[in-house]
Amino acid sequence: MINLKEKTAIVTGASRGIGLEITRVLASRGANIAMIATKENKELASSLEAEFNVKIVSYACDVSSSEMVESTFKNIIETFGAVDILVNNAGITRDGLLMRMKDEDFDDVLRINLRSVFICTKAVARHMMGRRQGRIINMASINGIRTQAGQANYAASKAGVIGITKSNSMEFAARGVTVNAVAPGFIQTDMTAKLNEDTINKFKENIPMKDLGKPADVANLVAFLASDEARYITGQIIGVDGGLNA
Ligand code: NAP
Repeated sequence: MINLKEKTAIVTGASRGIGLEITRVLASRGANIAMIATKENKELASSLEAEFNVKIVSYACDVSSSEMVESTFKNIIETFGAVDILVNNAGITRDGLLMRMKDEDFDDVLRINLRSVFICTKAVARHMMGRRQGRIINMASINGIRTQAGQANYAASKAGVIGITKSNSMEFAARGVTVNAVAPGFIQTDMTAKLNEDTINKFKENIPMKDLGKPADVANLVAFLASDEARYITGQIIGVDGGLNA
C-alpha cells in the first residue's frame, strides 16, 4: 500500500484532468498538496482538504514564468516546510499543420510544456538535493516517442520533456532525487475532448486495448513513482497507453 503521509507534493496543472486526479490520488495516500494552475482554485482546494483530511493549498502561477515560479515555490516551501514530490504536469496543445502553425503556437507550447519543466525543477532541485530526498515526475506523452501530423510543436515539447528527464536523473541520482517521466497515450480529459468523434474512433482502433485511458490510470503510476517503494527507479519513461507503444 503506497503511503505518502507527511510528504508534500507540488502538482502543476492540478485544476482539471490528469493533474486533478493526481492531486486526488496523492492526497488519498496522505500527501499534502500545493496545487498550481493558471488561476487560484480555493473552493476546489478546500473541498479536497475536507475529503482527504490533508493540507491542500491552491496557487495561481504561470509555470512558464521564471519569476512567478521562483516566488510561488519559495512561498510553498515556507508554507509547507518542505517539498518531497514535484509533478510537472501542466501542458497545452495548439495543434495544426506546420505550414499553418503560427510562431506563437509553437512558442507557447514549448514554453508551457517544456520550459516549465526546466524552471519548476530548478526551483526545487537545490532544496531536494539538500535534503537528500525527492521525487520529480514529468508528464511526457506518447507523442514525444511516436507521433502524428499536426503536432510538430507538441511532439517537440514532449520529446524535450523526455530529454530533460533523462539528463536531470543523471545529475540528481547521487543526491537521492529520482526523476522519471510518464508517457500517457490517449486519456479522456478536456485536452482530448476537443477532438471530433471520427478522430477518437480512429485512435481507439489503433489502441491494442481498444479503449481510451482514464486520468486515474496515469495518477496511480505517479503515486507509485512518488513513493519510497520507487527509490531505485530513475531516468525512466513509462507509458500508460493501453499498449499503443508496445
Ligand atoms: P487539461 O485537462 O487540458 O488540463 C491542463 C492543466 O494545465 C490545467 O490545470 C491548466 O490550468 C494547466 N495549465 C495550462 N497552462 C498553464 C500555465 N501556463 N501555468 C500553469 N498551469 C497551466 O490537460 P490534461 O489532458 O489533464 O493533460 C495534463 C498533462 O498530460 C499535459 O502535460 C498533457 O500534455 C499530458 N498528456 C495528456 C494526454 C491526454 O490524452 N489527455 C496524453 C498525453 C499527455 P487551468 O485550469 O488554470 O487552465
